[in-house]
Amino acid sequence: MPATLIDGKAIAAAIRDDVARRAAALKAAGRPASLVAILIGDDPAALSYSASQAKSAAAVGIDYRLDQLPAGTTQPQALAAIDQLNRDRHITGIMVHVPAPKPLDSFALQQRIAPEKDVEGVNAACLGLLALGRDAPVPCTAAAAFACLKSTGVEIAGKHAVVIGRSAIVGKPLAMLLLNANATVTQCHTKTRDLAAHTRRADILFAAAGVPHLIGHEHISPGAIVIDVGTNRIPLEDGSGKTKMVGDVQFDSVKELASFLTPVPGGVGPVTVATLLANTVAAAERHGV
Ligand code: NAD
Repeated sequence: MPATLIDGKAIAAAIRDDVARRAAALKAAGRPASLVAILIGDDPAALSYSASQAKSAAAVGIDYRLDQLPAGTTQPQALAAIDQLNRDRHITGIMVHVPAPKPLDSFALQQRIAPEKDVEGVNAACLGLLALGRDAPVPCTAAAAFACLKSTGVEIAGKHAVVIGRSAIVGKPLAMLLLNANATVTQCHTKTRDLAAHTRRADILFAAAGVPHLIGHEHISPGAIVIDVGTNRIPLEDGSGKTKMVGDVQFDSVKELASFLTPVPGGVGPVTVATLLANTVAAAERHGV
């Protein structure tokens, strides 16, 4: 029987409904949730991302502001802008669009965000709390991939979960979420030998390598849950020069073996966008309590 598809759009809609309810309660209590995004320079992709953030924040009742700093901003100036937002009691959430233009140090900028206002969960303190099994903002993509798994309703404790990828924003926090949920976790990466030998032992497989179609039916054990985090643009075969978005998983063949599968697009992606809003409202709820 082909896999049941995990509907990322429906999961995202449910998250947004919950966020809207909580944001309204905060507003009624005189403590509105707010998010300030810092963008240094005028990268068109970041500007377009910010415009869509503004729209999705407005739709759930979160105050959103883009603080755009000039391209020539120095590291001390950028840090001072973050410090000011950290001190501002009316601002409950902060994020920095990265990469910041060179020679700025994007890592140092993100680490400067006060952990309690870090809605992307990229601060070392947030990742540390997650590693310790404590409540903390979780990087949005990892949280979204985990939410896709949880939407299946399948018990996680005791299952063997395999995560392909070890980045600080996806693979590592995902492995920590799974460990915290009592899964047995294997983490694979570019130096892993015989990837298929590991993935075939997975009850739950997360593909977050950023390699189009890396995972085929030979990587899957029948009945596994497969969450495809990859978002890769590849050229269309018609020679038009246009591209399409594909995941790390060979959808058509894996669909025949897996029990649950996320499509790309329409799987983890929409949930990631909604998770930023959820992290923002959660930061506002913790703020000043
Ligand atoms: P990254 O490049 O930082 O990390 C990729 C990881 O995969 C690395 O740890 C690497 O060791 C591992 N890897 C690469 N090739 C491999 C291979 N052949 N075998 C085994 N391991 C391999 O990427 P990232 O930021 O962690 O993102 C991962 C993927 O998720 C990308 O496709 C990215 O576009 C996608 N992504 C999706 C969303 C979303 O909302 N759906 C958000 C962020 C990132």
